[in-house]
Parts: sequence; structure tokens; C-alpha cells
Amino acid sequence: MKDSAPTTPLTFPCTGCGGPMLFDSEGQNLKCQYCGNVQEIENSLEIPTEHDFDLSDTDDNDINLTDWGFEQQTIHCEKCGGESIIPELETATTCVFCGSPKVLAQVDKTSIRPETIISFRMSLDEALTSFRSWKKKRWFVPNAFKKGELVSHLKGIYIPYWTFDSMTSSSYSAERGDYHYRNETRTRVVDGKTETYTERVRYTVWHWVNGHYDDTFDDILVPASRRYDKGLLKKIGKFDLNQLKEYKPEYLSGFIAERYSVTRQDGWLTASEKIDNSIYGSIKGVIGGDEVRGLTVETNYYNRTYKHLLVPIWNANYIYRGKNFRYMVNGQTGLVSGEAPRSPWKITIFVLFCLIVIAIPLYFYTR
Ligand SMILES: [Zn+2]
Ligand SMILES: [Zn+2]
Repeated sequence: MKDSAPTTPLTFPCTGCGGPMLFDSEGQNLKCQYCGNVQEIENSLEIPTEHDFDLSDTDDNDINLTDWGFEQQTIHCEKCGGESIIPELETATTCVFCGSPKVLAQVDKTSIRPETIISFRMSLDEALTSFRSWKKKRWFVPNAFKKGELVSHLKGIYIPYWTFDSMTSSSYSAERGDYHYRNETRTRVVDGKTETYTERVRYTVWHWVNGHYDDTFDDILVPASRRYDKGLLKKIGKFDLNQLKEYKPEYLSGFIAERYSVTRQDGWLTASEKIDNSIYGSIKGVIGGDEVRGLTVETNYYNRTYKHLLVPIWNANYIYRGKNFRYMVNGQTGLVSGEAPRSPWKITIFVLFCLIVIAIPLYFYTR
């Protein structure tokens, strides 16, 4: 609950009391922070639009793509380069990523709107509870860290992804190798006597093959953010894309949407690498044989489309004995990944213990 009346105009004012309505992860609806009034979010189960994707199209200003359902502005951090999207009428005073106060609003910077979204399932309290039990299970961390309460500023952030669909048509040529066997007569010397014997020898017969291979790719997922530590992001696990919903601005109420820092074009490069690897594997399967060499593939991509989507994370920094640490909680599943302080002396004891375990048998052995 907020303790003071909002000073900035609201995107979703309560119809009952005028207070701010924020997305509620428990009810999956909008809830007034003052009077508890609840408003359902209409969500049709229509298949989200996939936009045609043309590599030469570097313009993100198409109005059909950039209507977020509210006037948005991009907040740029001068310190870390992070960009977030907030309603135009709101003001941001600090960077949500690094806490720096050097933030600038860039009203003219348009951003492609997400087609789909995975909404928050974990509330702030649930995310904190997940973190508390996570830190209790850490090894080699100071006891004071395990037991103590930490002040961490958790922020609910929607992070951006691209997904690409494409049909492909590939021509290939390669050499296919098939193993054959023949018996060869050889000689050897046994006990000073030369004798002949036969040995089964494998040889490979190569012949040229070429052909055509068609495939279809659906929802190749590529992160559109460079802001996060890849290791931390990986450890919060996967997001269940079966829970994707059609984008509605209400889902963003109370959260921050990060603006993509990977363009559609760069995202496609990553996606097409994944596609190419898959095509190579499939073509090798089609060619068959025991070995394939000199495979060249020429692929045309067509009916290429993309979608932009957002997934929820709780992101936090905390300070322990003057040092800064980060952690993250998956906003859908509650899985935690993070950095923790080390207890030098717990590590020393452990190392000594290991040395003793090795040393005792060694001592008896050498005696
Ligand atoms: Zn209200
Ligand atoms: Zn920053």
C-alpha cells in the first residue's frame, strides 16, 4: 500500500476512488491500491499478430507497431545505457537497472510494442520469500548473511524477447560416404615363421549428392536485452510460453517494461543461426550414409514474421557490508538466481577438512 496520494497522473485510475490501479499477480487483474476495487482485464484468446519481417526494414516508427495502449516514453540511463518504457506522464528519477539518478526521458524514441506477454505470477512478497529461502540454502556464506534481513530494492521488470517464424527452402550438395568392408590378405611373422592371414578392412566410398530441403520454423526465441548477466538470467530457468497472453497495457501497471537493446535485425541474425544449425542437422539426416563431408547449403527464407514479447522478472540489488550484489527472481515461476557474499573462513575450514580427509589415508598408506 502506498502511504501518500499519487502526484503523477495515473494511467489506470480507480473508478471508485481515483487511486492507482496496479496489476495484481494473484487475481491476474487490476486492483486499486486504496479501496481494493478490482477490474478484470479483458483478454481475448485470439492468435497474436505476427508481423512480416523484411531485413531492410530498420524503421521502428510504424504506428501500427508502436501503439502501447498508452502514451509511452523511453527513459535512458546515462550511466549504464539501460532503457525502460514508462507512461509519458510519469517521471522517472532513478535508473531501474543500476540506481543511477542520471536518467533522461526520450519522448521521440518509438518502441515496437509487444504482441504477447507473460504476466507476473509472483508478487513482490512472494519474490522476497523465494529469495529468503534461497539465501538460507547457500553454502560458504556468512551466517549473518543467512539469518539477517537484507534491504533489497526489488523491481518488477518486463524484459523483451523477439520470436521469429520462417519457412525455408534450401539447396544442398555434399559428399556422402558409405562404409564397405573387404577381406585383405596379409602376412605376419609368428615364432620366426611367416604366415598369411585375412583381415576385415573398412573403406569409405564417397559419392556426390545434391538435393532440396524445405522446412518450417515457428517461434524461435531470441533475447532482446543485453542488460542482464547472461548467467543470472539463465539460472532463473525457462518461461512457460503456454501462458503467453495477448498484450494489454494493464499488465504493465506497476511494473517497468525494458526497451529492447537488440534490434529486430540483430535478433534475426541470432535466430537464423539457430535455424541454419537445425537445417544442417536435418539435411545430414536426409543424406544418410555413414559420413557426410563438404556440405554446402544455400537457404532462402520466406514468409518471415516476428513477434515481440515480454517476460516478467523481479530484479534486485542489495548491499552487504559495503559490497553490491545482484539477484533475480523469475516472475512466473519464482526461481531465484543471484550473487552471494562468501565467508572466507567457512571456505578455509572446508579446504582444511578436505586436506585432512586426503592426508589421513595417505599417511597410513605411506607408512
Ligand atoms: Zn479505489
Ligand atoms: Zn542505469
